[in-house]
Amino acid sequence: MTSEVRLHPNEATDGAVVPLRLTAHETCPACATRDDETRVLACTTCEGEGRIVRDQHTYKVRIPAGIKNGQKIRLRELGAPGKHGGAPADLYVTVHVTN
Ligand SMILES: [Zn+2]
Repeated sequence: MTSEVRLHPNEATDGAVVPLRLTAHETCPACATRDDETRVLACTTCEGEGRIVRDQHTYKVRIPAGIKNGQKIRLRELGAPGKHGGAPADLYVTVHVTN
């Protein structure tokens, strides 16, 4: 999972805190008691993914000083949860430096 932020060159040089809007997921409640693959495939709440969209969240992300155009920042476990109750993924944010 990746996302993107845009920075002014001055922010890239000095570092910045920028808002980052993400879609949050949660484990599908209809699948919470599943114990076989057949039920997962039959779930219409989450279309068999085992997770549903919960909300939109805006996080504040600290961009380190001196970051370059095209660099990626890793945010630990801010990605979507894995399918079928797996651990959350890390989220990668690509930084674009533009005027
Ligand atoms: Zn489900």
